[in-house]
Amino acid sequence: MEAAVFHGDERITIERVGIPDVGQGEVLVRVLRTALCGSDFKLWHKGAEFTAGHEIFGVVEQPGHRMHGRRYAVYIPLHCDRCAACRRGDTQMCLEVSCLIGWNRPGGYAEYLPVPENCLLPVPDDIEDSLAPLLLDTIGTSAHAVRFVSRVVPPQEARPVLVTGAGPVGLGVILALRDAGYGDIHVSDPNTERLKIARAFGAREHPVGDTGRRFALIMECSGAHAARNLGIELVLPRGALVLVGENAAPWTIEEGKVFRRKDFYMIRTFYFPIGDLDSNIALLRRYRDEYRVLVDGEFGLRELPASFARFAQGQLIKPVLAVERR
Ligand SMILES: [Zn+2]
Ligand SMILES: [Zn+2]
Repeated sequence: MEAAVFHGDERITIERVGIPDVGQGEVLVRVLRTALCGSDFKLWHKGAEFTAGHEIFGVVEQPGHRMHGRRYAVYIPLHCDRCAACRRGDTQMCLEVSCLIGWNRPGGYAEYLPVPENCLLPVPDDIEDSLAPLLLDTIGTSAHAVRFVSRVVPPQEARPVLVTGAGPVGLGVILALRDAGYGDIHVSDPNTERLKIARAFGAREHPVGDTGRRFALIMECSGAHAARNLGIELVLPRGALVLVGENAAPWTIEEGKVFRRKDFYMIRTFYFPIGDLDSNIALLRRYRDEYRVLVDGEFGLRELPASFARFAQGQLIKPVLAVERR
């Protein structure tokens, strides 16, 4: 099969490689779409040990198997289904297995990949191929973050709300907030194109770095340390700062007055529980037109190196690799 190889130093090549072995309890998935993700920049710079790509949608190609021919999105955290975390539904935080598809084992920038059966999320026929990968990071991660914080800062106590970073997850968070009943949503991002979409999704612009307004709920989706620090400053007493964005570099919190003299929640959320799927499909159906705006590019595997470079320059929001296009 053909697969993208991330060599590091911003170099990707498309190579002929063997189809990875399919283990016990796994099936072979033929990739239809894999969405590009900003978190892959790390691999683009440093190189990847396994085939990258973690927002995957495809069909099972395992003749004779009950799942053969069906459409699935790929839930990337491997999970045991038996530990205390899995049993309470927190499959993304399995206590026994810590392995992510596309990071610690082969992912979706390829024609095929093996996937454990319990990582396959059935996608209904009315969800078009190009939107299916959004059920993962863009909708799953965003909606889970909103659901998690809503237990401590519910919509009626959370005005105004600020979303920092209007990438796919930040934009997904805006829709998930609206859907959960949050109002008075503000957004900050240096990219004017992204702000335009955020406004169309119902958020008002808040200038980057502005300290003139404080917020009961801050959804930090950029991963930037400056945005996190500003979040600590701007969050109102009893409010919540939710760290949705990621950053591999060490982050130091300066424990000054701003941090010390306030009750507030600082929350990290990761990915989403596998049981959220139905709610996330419902969310996708309710905001289908909005989510379609995010998928602003589609190309075949051979075009991945060039398209990834354009994506890295911030020219595209959520482009998808359509593997069968040659
Ligand atoms: Zn991602
Ligand atoms: Zn487990």
